[in-house]
Amino acid sequence: MISYQIAEHGRPLQKVLSETPKPRGTEVLVRVTRSGVCHSDLHIWDGYFDLGGGKRFYVKDRGCVPPFTMGHEPFGIVEAVGPRAKGVKVGQKRIVFPWIGCGQCAMCKDELDNYCTAMRTIGVVKPGAYSTHLLVPHPKYLVDAKGIDEAFAATLACSGVTAYSAVRKLARLTARDAVAVIGCGGVGLATIAVLRATGVKNVIACDVDESKLAAAREFGARLTLDTRTPDAVQKLQGLAKASLGGVIDLVGMPATAHLGLGALRKGGRYVMVGLFGGELQHPLPPFALRAIGIVGSYVGNLQELREVVALARKKRLKKMPLSTRPANEVNAILEDLKAAKVLGRVVLDFESAAT
Ligand code: NAD
Repeated sequence: MISYQIAEHGRPLQKVLSETPKPRGTEVLVRVTRSGVCHSDLHIWDGYFDLGGGKRFYVKDRGCVPPFTMGHEPFGIVEAVGPRAKGVKVGQKRIVFPWIGCGQCAMCKDELDNYCTAMRTIGVVKPGAYSTHLLVPHPKYLVDAKGIDEAFAATLACSGVTAYSAVRKLARLTARDAVAVIGCGGVGLATIAVLRATGVKNVIACDVDESKLAAAREFGARLTLDTRTPDAVQKLQGLAKASLGGVIDLVGMPATAHLGLGALRKGGRYVMVGLFGGELQHPLPPFALRAIGIVGSYVGNLQELREVVALARKKRLKKMPLSTRPANEVNAILEDLKAAKVLGRVVLDFESAAT
């Protein structure tokens, strides 16, 4: 099989040829056809998350040690199954749910793998989908996406399920409430799509890039805000007519956290998804006095993936702008994403001759 691997953090990925693994026990071997490129891969590629104040959380401390294959938005075809893998057939096309836990703890037994403390995530801890093949530990992590464009289906494994899970964490909204989406990249546009698909009409898209704001408007956001404008908190409150019931932050840096928390109405909820990094300093009494909530959201669970896939299959979930590029362009794609030149998502095509 061919994989594009991190040999050294921050350096170009290397093309590596190795023997294709054979599935054992309940394992399933998937031949990857499409693989989305998420901004989280930039953090993993860098090798750390920025904790602010010069502190870092290194991915090697979570088992992501080079040589390593990233890629956690996989779509592919079942190529071989282990002797104990039931309910799956060679040739089936499936989304791979990558957010896999230890399988033993109470969270995993409840299918809340994303809350497991010993995760075996594909593309973060285990070899990922920047590869022609990957091993999935159990058929239950394969989700049928019949009728959905394959590149779009791949993005549901992270962008889609993350957006869906974040929207579910909002507090109850009133009819006049607005929801702000901060950061209108791949996950941000997916979040706008989920909000619209679940009946939220008043979406305010926030970004620093006019082309992303224009895409968000086309995608269903009613209003937009450049987060760099002076008095952004007051502007956002004004756009929301003082009724900002929720904020979903897909950037996750001090400036965006202050914007979101500052603009919420009383009783509103701020959902933190983005991992750009930094440290939040915020006075404590307003959390209680304004009855605002702050909640982190980490990807989603298997049932949430099934539900967001169902929305897409019913054509209720709008497909974000996607470009499909040959897999061997992965380094250029990561550079484009780093330079904020990507609109929506780029998906690697492993069926292209240029793999
Ligand atoms: P992306 O690169 O596609 O989009 C990022 C967007 O943020 C861009 O449109 C950019 O212009 C905008 N942006 C940058 N700085 C901004 C600012 N100060 N104010 C407003 N907008 C700003 O990235 P993505 O793939 O959508 O991922 C976004 C973040 O979410 C990344 O940090 C990623 O690691 C994280 N993420 C977290 C989870 C999770 O489960 N918590 C899941 C997926 C991605």
